[in-house]
Amino acid sequence: MPLKGVAGKDFFIDYYVDHDTTDGIRDVYCGTKTYNGHQGTDFLLSGYKRMDSGVYVYAAAEGIVSEVTDGYYDRRKRWIKGVQSNYVIIVHANGINTYYAHLMKHSLSVKRGDSVKVGQAIGKVGSSGYSAYPHLHFEVRNKERKTIDPFTGACSQRNTSYWLSQPSYDTSTFVINTGFVPYIPNGDTLQEGYLVTDTFYTNRDATVCFWALVHGLHMHDVILAEWYGPGGSLKYQYSYEWKASWWHDYTWPHINMPKERGKWAVKLYINGEFATGRSFYVTKQRKGNG
Ligand SMILES: [Zn+2]
Repeated sequence: MPLKGVAGKDFFIDYYVDHDTTDGIRDVYCGTKTYNGHQGTDFLLSGYKRMDSGVYVYAAAEGIVSEVTDGYYDRRKRWIKGVQSNYVIIVHANGINTYYAHLMKHSLSVKRGDSVKVGQAIGKVGSSGYSAYPHLHFEVRNKERKTIDPFTGACSQRNTSYWLSQPSYDTSTFVINTGFVPYIPNGDTLQEGYLVTDTFYTNRDATVCFWALVHGLHMHDVILAEWYGPGGSLKYQYSYEWKASWWHDYTWPHINMPKERGKWAVKLYINGEFATGRSFYVTKQRKGNG
């Protein structure tokens, strides 16, 4: 595994290699978990908070480091073509090489010519280069530098996997991270992942906004937000249709600051199934130094 942690918990595989040579898309399992022309496998982190904790990238096999590029800005939140990524390339037996991109600035711990062992830390996950969120782009290439998909599946040309234990394919809908903010955020602020508060003040805040980072939402999915007041009575309920088709995305339903003080809760349902929920407190701000 080219990074630290457990798939589906510490990181999430959201885009595979595109096996369709036209302008369509097809991943190794004949599914749609890829984007047009994608040459690697993307391992997503839950946000910049997670990235800042320092998630190690590991050499996927033993080899010799052939390229290292470091020093570039690593907190990209928009796709900008042509900006430089921090990356490492390692050459293995038979000329097969592995490429680790979007790494954190100044996290690279190997230099050209170094021998690395399998599982050795070579840097940390970042969002440098053509990247809009913290993730590792991991790519395997043959000696002609043509992409090899290390996975095997129904749409693979090979029957054998390059993985010792091939990570499982997950197309389900699940929530990666949630929080509250006292204002209406945008995608950039949400990505930080530091935005968690559970207390709102009637004489200070105007908005209660609940946000969720969701894996596996699809175009035309229906999200229902239910807001419960103190004592568990349903106060607000509204639904909206999902308009995008990224394999991970944020949704951030909000209500105007309620006047009723006490413990509130919000519940999100996706296509009628409960997806996530969280409680919060509405109170009046303390006077003095509070
Ligand atoms: Zn990628």
